[in-house]
Amino acid sequence: MRLPGFVNAHSHAFQRALRGRAEGGDFWAWRDSMLALAGEQTPERVRREYVGVYREMRAAGYTAVGEFHYLGLDEARAAAEAAEDAGIGLVLLLAAYGRGGLDRFRQPSVEAYVGQVERLRADGVAVGVAPHSVRACPREWLEELGRYANAEGLVLHVHADEQPREIEESLAEHGLRPVELLAETGCLGPRTTVVHATHAWDGELDLLAEHGARVCLCPTTEANLGDGYAPVERLRERGIPLCIGSDSNVRIDPLEELREVEGIARRSALRRNVVPPEELLRLGGPEGAAALGLAAWDDVEADTAHPSLAGVEADDLRAALVFGCGADVLAPV
Ligand SMILES: [Zn+2]
Repeated sequence: MRLPGFVNAHSHAFQRALRGRAEGGDFWAWRDSMLALAGEQTPERVRREYVGVYREMRAAGYTAVGEFHYLGLDEARAAAEAAEDAGIGLVLLLAAYGRGGLDRFRQPSVEAYVGQVERLRADGVAVGVAPHSVRACPREWLEELGRYANAEGLVLHVHADEQPREIEESLAEHGLRPVELLAETGCLGPRTTVVHATHAWDGELDLLAEHGARVCLCPTTEANLGDGYAPVERLRERGIPLCIGSDSNVRIDPLEELREVEGIARRSALRRNVVPPEELLRLGGPEGAAALGLAAWDDVEADTAHPSLAGVEADDLRAALVFGCGADVLAPV
């Protein structure tokens, strides 16, 4: 059974190396380990290790990936080469990082950041603009990045509302919640994808809907890091388009991400079929492609002779894929 390939709209491939590392009391403790690992990356290591991660994605049915990258320009080029090698489509979401994090994450100015994006575009790399978060980008940066992405017709991806602390800091600095600040600085539009939105208030979700912005959910990572529950029903009520990402790559399985999206929704709503199976499949593939600005990406084949699908009626196969299978039923075409 042939399907559009799954699209991984949010990945940090280097974090795959933290799989199984169970230490750390919360997100912020995990972030310390992540920063230590980020500090060790080189273009050679990215080139070598990302190939393995992208092959794992490809084998799991993802045929395109949005790599949200904050490790430097040479490493960005290495990531693009690794994707090419692994045969997965890639959009390099180059992170703009104005403050905090590690030295290597930061550009000296927003103009320097735009210069990096332009160089990647000149090299033929598909790129998106990615203010890392309202934590990492001052207001003036957000204003310029919103303006630039809009003028160039580029997608804009940004983390927001993953953790309560980020919201408290944004309120203290700006008197605004993260999505409110993104709206005010011109960062929200139909080419915008907000990653997580876990703790978004109704007013923030209204802003996303008004501007036609999307949300990328990363449920296996959000579970692993203790982020919270995605507000699936409140997103859907507003017609906000959703897509999925493997984010930290603690797990690489689009069917599991989709099952989690619906599982969270059902547990919260106390009913079934909150996001119907056909819609889940659409957000696993075409909606992710739209979030990345991709017009074309490879299909995948689901093996209907796989034991996980034994005894399933033909009409139920697509739903059984989401609710009863792992990525081992999927293979690249
Ligand atoms: Zn992320």
